[in-house]
Amino acid sequence: MSSSAPSPSLPSSPWRFLWMFVREGFLCRVILLNLAAAGGIGLMGLEPVAMRGLVDALAGLSDNQRSGTSAGTAGWTAEVMPWFLLLGGLWIASALFNRLRELVDLHTSPALRHAVQVRLFDQLIDHSSSYFQDNFAGTLGQKVKQAGQSSIELLEILTNDIIRIVVILAIGLTLLASAQTLFAVLLVGWTAAHLTVSALLARRCLRLSHAFSEEVSSTTGRMVDIIANAELVRAFARRRQELAGLSDALTGEIARSKELRWFLTKMWFWLFNVLLVFQITLIGIAVSDATAGRMSVGDFAMVFSLASIVGANVWGLSTRMLGFFEQLGILSGALELIVRPHGIPDPPGRPDLVVTGGAIRFEDLRFAHPGSDAGPNSGKTGAVFDGLSLTIRPGERVALVGPSGAGKSTLVRLLRRQFPLQGGRILIDGQDIAGVSLASLNRAVAEVPQLPSLFHRSIRDNIAYGSEGADDAAVRAAAARAHCDRFIEERAGGYGTMVGERGIQLSGGERQRVAIARAFLKDAPILVLDEATSSLDSETEHLIQDALLGLFEGRTVIAIAHRLSTVTGMDRILYLEGGRILEDGDHAGLLRRDGPYARLWRRQVGGFLPDESAVPAGDVPGNLREEVR
Ligand code: ADP
Repeated sequence: MSSSAPSPSLPSSPWRFLWMFVREGFLCRVILLNLAAAGGIGLMGLEPVAMRGLVDALAGLSDNQRSGTSAGTAGWTAEVMPWFLLLGGLWIASALFNRLRELVDLHTSPALRHAVQVRLFDQLIDHSSSYFQDNFAGTLGQKVKQAGQSSIELLEILTNDIIRIVVILAIGLTLLASAQTLFAVLLVGWTAAHLTVSALLARRCLRLSHAFSEEVSSTTGRMVDIIANAELVRAFARRRQELAGLSDALTGEIARSKELRWFLTKMWFWLFNVLLVFQITLIGIAVSDATAGRMSVGDFAMVFSLASIVGANVWGLSTRMLGFFEQLGILSGALELIVRPHGIPDPPGRPDLVVTGGAIRFEDLRFAHPGSDAGPNSGKTGAVFDGLSLTIRPGERVALVGPSGAGKSTLVRLLRRQFPLQGGRILIDGQDIAGVSLASLNRAVAEVPQLPSLFHRSIRDNIAYGSEGADDAAVRAAAARAHCDRFIEERAGGYGTMVGERGIQLSGGERQRVAIARAFLKDAPILVLDEATSSLDSETEHLIQDALLGLFEGRTVIAIAHRLSTVTGMDRILYLEGGRILEDGDHAGLLRRDGPYARLWRRQVGGFLPDESAVPAGDVPGNLREEVR
């Protein structure tokens, strides 16, 4: 299997998700964490026993002193010292267990957070183009980070707080039963009440925390969108409006946060009251028993000390519930968004595409962009293609021309399986691309898109992205063939120059040449050029045309072109309009036909409409587009 093979799907339930990580790589460490927490609290739970012994010994000593039968220092040492040492020993040993737990956690939580983030990111990156169009990049990044953090917080609660409560309740129950059965009955009753109330409140808390985390993600996404378009905000002097919009959105965040916090405040109020009633009742009974002589002072001290320890731990857990449900809500929200079926399924084990000649066949293609259906009564189907068929021979160079919105970009994106088809199929050398591994399909097709994406990395890294392990010489050779070596060497940082986010520190033409160099390096049998030369000055365009002709050799080429001067040398020119091929032929043949291509040619050569189809459909109102035609 190749390194880019999809990873198996992750569980979408937070518990099964966490368990999967624990089982796969953290089981021993999690067991150790539990043991250390149990040891720490278990020893602390024995403190009331030592306290009872110590208090009883001291009481005996003072009785003796009062009755004049003091045993002196020897008696003090013999009766009191062992209890004192036991108490000190328990404290020290309990503290050592707690430190041990922290030490194990040092090797658990950061590693778990790392593993969760990597696996979720792996799942995220395989989603379809529509998924990334529908979700803010900032939101997605934040969800991955949040999931890593909430996983370790949940683990902490499970391996520390819960264990502590279980152990302390077990010890408390045993000790209180030994002092008086009623105490044990009270502890059981109170525990049951506490857990029932907590369970009843848990679901609502989860819902509120989920709503809050959704709100936070959406405002983060919005903020990142504005930051990414900061220049646009400045250019249109919309700072005030953006700030007001963001502030409105943040108001929603405040409301969700207040709802959650108010609910937790109420929850704590009730839980704390139940705890107080329990503690006061327990100590009240103990006071009455001790004054009536049914209980020794030592027993009283033990009950008092136990009530404080149990109370402190249960209260600790109640306050941790805020974190628990919040983190559970955050993790389930992140999993809901990320762990969903990939729009374009790519199950492991599919065969790789084997390109022998590079023949491409589009067969009866039916496709509409997701959500583009204009509705049953609108009279529009929203379909980009409704039965398009096209055969491209191996090594053929085909240009796609036609007005904006004709479906040219969609056609080449379908070739890379970026959207699921509603009907028909696409074959490369006789293999249906829907049945091959996505990685092999992407390896077979090199693309220079209309707006090339660049990482905020060095120019060298961006070019080398075309071929894994490409060395410096290969990068320089590709840059030279794409005619971008000159401008790179003129930069102070040379090939190490950082290009800025999405390549913002390069001009449009430079960005495109870097993308062309990257495609040279990829050396794929099928080449897709989408307006590859649109941002180049005429001198560079000439050089690029030359270079591209070299690259075309031995490859099947589909080039989307708006400037017809760049397509005259192609084997075939397809004139597309409304998702249909209206004309198919070479330049001279199409001019002779005197159809739409010839009209477009004359208009461009005539110079009144230099580049009509380069205008994205979304930027031009429908009526204006009609006028342009
Ligand atoms: P061309 O490349 O010929 O300009 P496109 O293939 O980009 O045309 O677009 C074909 C049609 O599909 C247009 O109506 C366009 O608005 C629509 N379209 C393109 N991309 C999307 C998308 N991601 N979601 C919805 N509709 C889209």
